[in-house]
Amino acid sequence: MPNKSTDLHELPVVKVSRRGANRLKDGHVWVYRSDILSAEGVAPGALVRVADEREKPLGTALYSSASQIAIRMISKEAVTDLDRLLRQRIRDAIAYRERVVRETDAYRIIFSEADFLPGLIVDRYNDVLSLQVLTQAMDVESVRKTVVSELDAQLKPAAMVERVDPRVRDLEQLPARPSGLLQGEKTSTVFVMNAVRFHYEAFEGQKTGAFLDQRENYAAAAEYSRGEALDAFCYQGGFALHLAKHCSKVTGVDSSRPALELADRNAALNGREIEWIEANAFDLLRDYASSGQQYDAIVLDPPAFAKGKSNVETALRGYKELNLRALKMLRPGGTLITCSCSYHVSLGEFLEVVAEAARDAHKNPRVLETRTQAKDHPILLTVPETAYLKCVILTVS
Ligand code: SAH
Repeated sequence: MPNKSTDLHELPVVKVSRRGANRLKDGHVWVYRSDILSAEGVAPGALVRVADEREKPLGTALYSSASQIAIRMISKEAVTDLDRLLRQRIRDAIAYRERVVRETDAYRIIFSEADFLPGLIVDRYNDVLSLQVLTQAMDVESVRKTVVSELDAQLKPAAMVERVDPRVRDLEQLPARPSGLLQGEKTSTVFVMNAVRFHYEAFEGQKTGAFLDQRENYAAAAEYSRGEALDAFCYQGGFALHLAKHCSKVTGVDSSRPALELADRNAALNGREIEWIEANAFDLLRDYASSGQQYDAIVLDPPAFAKGKSNVETALRGYKELNLRALKMLRPGGTLITCSCSYHVSLGEFLEVVAEAARDAHKNPRVLETRTQAKDHPILLTVPETAYLKCVILTVS
């Protein structure tokens, strides 16, 4: 169906409540199931027309029969040719990266809602593309074919791989499917960001590869760091390798052995000596702080502690503990690079918790920079959920 034009009136109609319609008028792109008035007989993953209570058209959306987010808007217009729209959106996403991405051959090419392609994530690692499908609509065979064919036509990668998150497929009630190659044969490559080289292994690691969203923050962190540095929650060494450019000694800590093994290979690739420690970063920071260990630069980039609104309190306690230990260990003139990737913790809450940690550590830090995710992970002003990463750079006297 999506390969040829569809008569507009053939598309199923989903009616949304006044609250749902107002949300769309405010510029959001989601309508929750509780705001759906009727979606009778709409197939999972279907392209649908969206209308308000009085049948006024609101645009075109992708439908999920499983998610609490029942519809994700794909256009304010009446879309009749999904294939053409997808191809145009992919070209637009690529053109946007050409404007904003510098110093790298690894970046996010498509970031779901933020590129008006809800449910699709595509990352580029040099000559390998990594795709992730997050919704029923993006899993429809004809949609997959269109996406792969347009990416291939535009970027001519050596290979495309699909990274499957089984939990996401389960939530969307999609049949299980293994991660694997979609095209070509290459599953590993080397990419460069800010003149630092990294290995990419498509089927290792925790997400689609590296944390590309930190790319601009790596460069900023390196700018301010000197002397002895500690990178806590270092994963494959993103911050540590950047800091090694200016620091005399760098230590990276992570609880994942496979991550540290790749980090070590990355260090060798760049001719750097970095000390990697496999440990629980909470325990290590507590022990080091109480034994009087000191550093000139510390990075804190823990995983998202708050997966939902309900555990924000626990997350804030975690941030406070980490930042307190780190601030205590900083020498005068030292730099703290502290991050939070939990959408549910706002920048305001994060700054407040770091301030509390500073008071308890008897320090009065200056804020050098308040940063966010790299520009290839766009933030839609009217869709707050697209802004999730906070990276605050502080200096203590
Ligand atoms: N700074 C990294 C990304 C960090 S992602 C980069 O820029 O690439 C979060 C990391 O925290 C993961 O590598 C995970 O293995 C690690 N982690 C999770 N809990 C941990 C803990 N309690 N102690 C140490 N590492 C932990």
